[in-house]
Amino acid sequence: MAQTLKWMSEKGLSGLEFATGVPATIGGMVYMNFECWGNDVSSMVDSVYIYEKKNGFRWIKRQDYQVAYRWTSFHDFQCIILAVKLNTQPSTTNKVKEKMQQYLSERKEKQPVLKSTFGSVFKNPLPQKAGELVDQLGLKGTTIGDAMISNHHANFFENLDKATFEDTFKLIKLIQNKVQTMYNIKLECEVQMIQ
Ligand SMILES: Cc1cc2nc3c(=O)[nH]c(=O)nc-3n(C[C@H](O)[C@H](O)[C@H](O)COP(=O)(O)OP(=O)(O)OC[C@H]3O[C@@H](n4cnc5c(N)ncnc54)[C@H](O)[C@@H]3O)c2cc1C
Repeated sequence: MAQTLKWMSEKGLSGLEFATGVPATIGGMVYMNFECWGNDVSSMVDSVYIYEKKNGFRWIKRQDYQVAYRWTSFHDFQCIILAVKLNTQPSTTNKVKEKMQQYLSERKEKQPVLKSTFGSVFKNPLPQKAGELVDQLGLKGTTIGDAMISNHHANFFENLDKATFEDTFKLIKLIQNKVQTMYNIKLECEVQMIQ
């Protein structure tokens, strides 16, 4: 992502600046239907080149796969995304860099981007926001082992030093139980777990 944004700014290509500061790959972003602040990567996609065990290599046009909140049809394909064609808008290096800086500042203001995190823990139970529910329960700063609910944004966990999967999992369960009890809402993980 960082390399792509650098390349796009050098070429004066605009459209992906909203993802500045996110440690992701283009394939992962397309697979997860990356979205923030009303921008989503899917609306830029022209086509995706995949390898699928069953059907081999092929290009898929954007209109030939489905997207939803943090989901695409690729979840059902069992495939690897190898390349993506994106539609971009012509701009200038300075304008692209300026937009990147604006998005990075916004992200730094709202999220603990300079800490060790794995991004948002829970999907937003729309129209509610997971972080706001956790915050309302006064859980910011709650720590299990070395995993802490961020004081900066309650839908992020910070690794204070050597947080383990168990620390993180217990913190997830603690939040899910409290949110279920207090609001009767089942918070679903955004992050994918391999157990
Ligand atoms: C600090 C931070 C901020 C974040 N902010 C946002 C945000 O604002 N909005 C948002 O939507 N997400 C956000 N995320 C989550 C994450 O960046 C996105 O989900 C991203 O799209 C995942 O990309 P990745 O390359 O890191 O994939 P990974 O996390 O490595 O993988 C995610 C899933 O995609 C699959 N996958 C990865 N690459 C491919 C590929 N090439 N082909 C097929 N499957 C693949 C993996 O198997 C896995 O199931 C954030 C994460 C962090 C750490």
